[in-house]
Amino acid sequence: MDKRPDRLVVASANPDKIAEVEKIWEELGVGSRIVRGLSWEDVEETGETLEENALLKARAVAAATGLPSLADDTGLEVDALGGRPGVRSARYAGENATYQDNVALLLTEMEGRKDRSARFRTVTALVWPSGQVLVANGALEGRITSAARGEGGFGYDSVFEVGDRTLAEITPAEKNRISHRSRALRALASLLRT
Ligand code: IMP
Repeated sequence: MDKRPDRLVVASANPDKIAEVEKIWEELGVGSRIVRGLSWEDVEETGETLEENALLKARAVAAATGLPSLADDTGLEVDALGGRPGVRSARYAGENATYQDNVALLLTEMEGRKDRSARFRTVTALVWPSGQVLVANGALEGRITSAARGEGGFGYDSVFEVGDRTLAEITPAEKNRISHRSRALRALASLLRT
């Protein structure tokens, strides 16, 4: 196996996600410097699973930049909706849906439902230009609220409650301590250390 990468690129076009990944990765102390400011063609998320999409993104960006690339694909699985929106979380309310569109559709679909249980699931993939791959998972259990609460976070954070607060009502540091994304990245970091 290649050694731990000295440098890597975060394979995402979503600034909210990049900010979280960078902060978590730096705090994990893996020692890889994150290279910023590179660009690549948009990668279409055509996979049918989170893992396929994470690998698609990481492989495309490793090929485009020549650097080890770290991708994250995340889905919100809502039990009362049979696991939807899942892998389609970004496009739940349509191809160009905004965070607000997706949250509004989720709250409408959840109206009157007793079972509010849900989880965020993240798959992270680290792909080297040589083709070597590492994959890790993380999940966070919670509940869908009946209305959005809080100003922080992004995506579905304002309608996802853990205990009595939504992920938009806690600080970024608190979110990073418990989140699906930090769990997946921690698991990836420990694979790199072994
Ligand atoms: P993707 O991993 O970029 O495909 O993200 C799918 C969608 O899930 C995004 O558009 C966000 O709306 C949502 N999402 C991803 N990560 C989070 C998170 O940490 N909190 C809330 N929503 C998220």
